Amino acid sequence: MSANSTEDGDPFPVPKQNETKVFSLSKKQFKAESKRLLDLMINSIYTNKEIFLRELISNASDAEDKLYFKTLSDGISGLSRSDFEIFLEADPDKGTLTIRDNGIGMTREELDKNLGTIAKSGSRLFKDESEEAEGEEAKNLEDIDIIGQFGVGFYSAFMVAKKVTVISKAYGADEAFKWMSSGADGYTVTPANLDGHGTVITLVMKDDTEDETYSRFLEEYEIRRLIKKYSDYIRYPIKMMVTESQPKEGTEGEYEEVSREAILNTMSPIWKKQKREVKAEEYNDFYKNNFYDYNDPLRVIRASTEGAATYTALLFIPGKAPYNFYSKNYEKGLKLYASGVLIMDNCKDLLPDHFSFVRGLVDSEDLSLNISREMLQQDRQVQLIESHLEKKIKSELLAMLRKDRENYEKFWKEFGMQLKFGVYANYGTNKDLLQDLLLYYSSKDGNLTTLAEYVERMPADQKHVYYACGESAEKIRNLPQAELVLDKGYELLYLTEEVDEFSIKTLVSYQDKTFCSVTDDDLGLDTDEDKEAVKRLDEENKELFDFMKETLGDNVTAVKASTRLKSHPVCFSTEGGISLEMEKILAQQPDELNHMKAQKVLELNTSHAIFGKLKELYASEDRDRVATYTKLLYDQALLIEGMPIEDPVAFSNAICDLM
Ligand code: ADP
Ligand code: MG
Repeated sequence: MSANSTEDGDPFPVPKQNETKVFSLSKKQFKAESKRLLDLMINSIYTNKEIFLRELISNASDAEDKLYFKTLSDGISGLSRSDFEIFLEADPDKGTLTIRDNGIGMTREELDKNLGTIAKSGSRLFKDESEEAEGEEAKNLEDIDIIGQFGVGFYSAFMVAKKVTVISKAYGADEAFKWMSSGADGYTVTPANLDGHGTVITLVMKDDTEDETYSRFLEEYEIRRLIKKYSDYIRYPIKMMVTESQPKEGTEGEYEEVSREAILNTMSPIWKKQKREVKAEEYNDFYKNNFYDYNDPLRVIRASTEGAATYTALLFIPGKAPYNFYSKNYEKGLKLYASGVLIMDNCKDLLPDHFSFVRGLVDSEDLSLNISREMLQQDRQVQLIESHLEKKIKSELLAMLRKDRENYEKFWKEFGMQLKFGVYANYGTNKDLLQDLLLYYSSKDGNLTTLAEYVERMPADQKHVYYACGESAEKIRNLPQAELVLDKGYELLYLTEEVDEFSIKTLVSYQDKTFCSVTDDDLGLDTDEDKEAVKRLDEENKELFDFMKETLGDNVTAVKASTRLKSHPVCFSTEGGISLEMEKILAQQPDELNHMKAQKVLELNTSHAIFGKLKELYASEDRDRVATYTKLLYDQALLIEGMPIEDPVAFSNAICDLM
């Protein structure tokens, strides 16, 4: 093979007179690691081959950044940002795609070193190789995943090209050189010609196969799409000649094809603009175009810092929960950019679970383009950004709650459940962070209230924050156990969702006021006299209560006189950590081990006529009927709680007998 050869569709023939030194034209071998990576690229079964363009363009942009900074630091004048550009040229006839930049370029040595040796990013891919020779297949799958998430730099060109030519002239150098390779069998570096500094990379595309059409990468439409998708915010213009049909001058309704130079990228990211420069509408459009939502976001959040972690974030709180939000299929995450280049579509590590509804992006200058997913997880910058974003999101939600209640309640209806899960998850680790964001319906006026608002309204003598669980506010209002608390004039939180009580139990207390369910055995309402009275009643009726307890066996832990009942004859209270509502929810869990039961106490209203009847029957030694009545009362208590009774037929027969 000759350096001057024009066969093979070599688009950059080098004139003979330029060859001042004699070069060995024998092929150089890639370093072992590089060869492996190349093999992987060339034979890649990875379907997302399109990322090669992102990689080459970001290299071009890096090279322009480097030169720009060099001129700044060396005090070289005459070059400004606006002088830099990236130019694309597709030639479907020759099957070539060319990416040209006027960046810092590479010397002969640099071509050899940078392109002959695997880049840092790629080396990572094989880091554990020597230690872990087995599991080859699994390893390969993992590799492919890494390609998809992060790309592997320059070599990704070999996923789509059968031959790659790189002509480069370093800034300030007189000579240009050409690096050329058709893949794993090696590469050559020879002298070449190039006007000005920079790099021209030419890919000779692979032939189309059944599985992949490489020729599409030469179509204007596809190139535009890829630039929009991956490289829209590269800060230098990405240019290409495009043809458009335009009305022909001097004719009526005739069109002609006109070529013009088009810039394919937006360049200046919306999140880099000053907040006031961007109209609400632009944010909304940006959100809808990038995050697959038809609705405007409820709120736009901008965050940025310099220092420990330098980043800009543009976040959105959606107006509607995605249809799969509360399912396993929903994936939280933010788009992650490294200096304007998209490196990850959905970076989970940037968002805590309790704020999984937030959409948006983070752009950081501290991240390298080829950082791997595992590295991201451990990356200190990423962790710093996550914790900063968490605080920011919380403060924005609080601001919304205070100043824009209507929208906050809309938000709450869509995503409130996620916050309640957040309180409960991980043994309550995040409860302090989240408690002020919670809303509950209450007996006050049927509206949503925060815990702070509730506590603020508490009369001086009220010790606890009271709540009751049930399917709906209506049902809760009619619970016998609710009566006493409501009669006292205390406010009651209505917990109507399954997760509610679990989250309240995790909170334990709010501003030193403990939560108390109306079914708890001690409501903290009884005066010493009340307690005395109940104790006396329990003693007076000890034999009857013992008999009833015996009749009900393990179904109840005790039968006793109630202080909470006013008009109803009977109800349950519970001892221990598991409430009746929790028992119901746990009963629905697939895992039988979780079917824990509440410790129920059957409470009787001793002022009720029914109780008088019971006493009478017990005194007349009609034990059978006392037993029947006891079971009936127990079943009634179950029914009031909306729980299934064990033997509906027996229940029905007993009622019929009585009737
Ligand atoms: P990375 O960009 O992560 O360093 P790549 O495999 O993409 O890894 O590129 C390897 C190296 O080749 C780069 O670090 C750079 O030094 C050099 N390089 C690649 N493309 C260009 C270019 N267009 N101009 C100058 N240098 C380049
Ligand atoms: Mg790169």
